[in-house]
Amino acid sequence: MVYLDNAATTPLRKEVIEEISKVLVENYGNPSSTHSIGRKAKTQLETSRKTIAKLLNCNAQEIIFTSGATEGINWLINSIVKKKNIQRIITTKIEHHATLDTIKQLKDTEIIYLEINTNGEIDYNQLENLLEENIPTLVSLMHVNNEIGTVLNLKKVCDLCQKDHIWFYSDMVQSIGKTEINIQETPLDFFVATAHKFHGPKGVGFLYVKKNLVLDPVFYGGEQEKGWRAGTEALHQIAGIAKALDVSYEKLIEERIYISSIKEYCKQQLEINFPNIKFNGKNEFYNILNVQLPLEKSKSSMIVFLFDQLGIALSRGSACQSGSSKPSHVLAAFLSKEEVEKPSVRLSFSHYNTKEEIDLFIEVLKKI
Ligand code: PLP
Repeated sequence: MVYLDNAATTPLRKEVIEEISKVLVENYGNPSSTHSIGRKAKTQLETSRKTIAKLLNCNAQEIIFTSGATEGINWLINSIVKKKNIQRIITTKIEHHATLDTIKQLKDTEIIYLEINTNGEIDYNQLENLLEENIPTLVSLMHVNNEIGTVLNLKKVCDLCQKDHIWFYSDMVQSIGKTEINIQETPLDFFVATAHKFHGPKGVGFLYVKKNLVLDPVFYGGEQEKGWRAGTEALHQIAGIAKALDVSYEKLIEERIYISSIKEYCKQQLEINFPNIKFNGKNEFYNILNVQLPLEKSKSSMIVFLFDQLGIALSRGSACQSGSSKPSHVLAAFLSKEEVEKPSVRLSFSHYNTKEEIDLFIEVLKKI
C-alpha cells in the first residue's frame, strides 16, 4: 500500500516506539505514589511536560495532557464559555467537526461564521470589525486546515484579539510538530495538539492553557493535571508524545524540505498527465494537496474505495467523516455546488513517502 493520508494519522517513528516500550517496561509506577518508583514516574511525567513546553517556548504548567485533540476541544470550549460568560463565538465553516459540533451544541451562544474566500482563507477585516463590537467573545480558528492546507495568520489574529481583550483558541493539530511555534511571539490563550499527527501514539494529546487562566475540571476524583483532569496519567503515551515532538522538531528543517519536494513532484506529475486538473484552495501548507480529479461526478462516492483497491490509501477529507457519502463541508464552504460534487481527494504526505510512490499514484489515477 502507498499511504498518502498523513493528515488523518501518521506511522510511529522508531524512536517513539522505543521510548514507549522502555517506559512500559522500566517505569511502571503511578506518578502520584510517593515511594521512589512513583517518584521516578512523576519525574518522567514532568520531564515530558517540560520537553514539550521548551519546544513551543511556553511554560510547563501551561501544558495539560489529554487523550487527544477532540477531548481538549470539547473541554476547552464548554468550560471557557461558562467561565467567561462568552456570548459570541467567531469561527468558520472549515473547522474540524470536533470544533464545529462542540460549538453547535452550546445553548444561548451566538455563532458567527467568517466568510471564506475562493482560496479557503478568512476575511481578516470582517474579524477585526466584529471584534470591535465589545461583546464577550471566543475566537475559534484553526491554524492549518486539515483538508486544504490553508494557513491562518496566527500573529495577526493574536494581535487583533489582544487589542480588544478577546479570548483566542486555535486547533493546532495539523501544525504542531510540522512548523515552528513560539508562544511568546504568538501568545494565544488556548490551543490543542494530538500526538498521532506527528508520528506519535494515538490517544494522547495536550491542551495549552495560558498561565493564570483556569478551567473547570473535565473529570473529578484526583489531583492529576492540576486537579482538572483526574485519573492516573498514561505515562507511556505521554513519554511518547514528548519524544515524537522532540524528534519532529529536531528533523523539521530537513523533513520539510523533503516533503515539500514530494508535494511539488506530485503537483507537477498531476499537471503533466492530466492537463485539466484543478487544485482546491490555496494548498499552502507543505504536506497537504487537495485535488479535483478529472473524473465524472458519479465516481465521487466510490473514489476512496477505487484507490484503495489499487493500493493507494487516501481520503476525501477528514478521516472522522470518511464513512459519510456527503461531500466535504470544507470544500462546500468556498466552492460552487457543482464543483463540490466532483470527485476530489486530499493527499497528505510525510517523510516516509517517495517519488516512486507518487508515480504509482499517477498510474492508478490513469487506470481509474
Ligand atoms: N482537529 C483536526 C484539525 C484534526 O485533523 C483532527 C484529527 O482527526 C482532530 C482535531 C481530532 O484529533 P484527535 O484524533 O486527537 O481527537
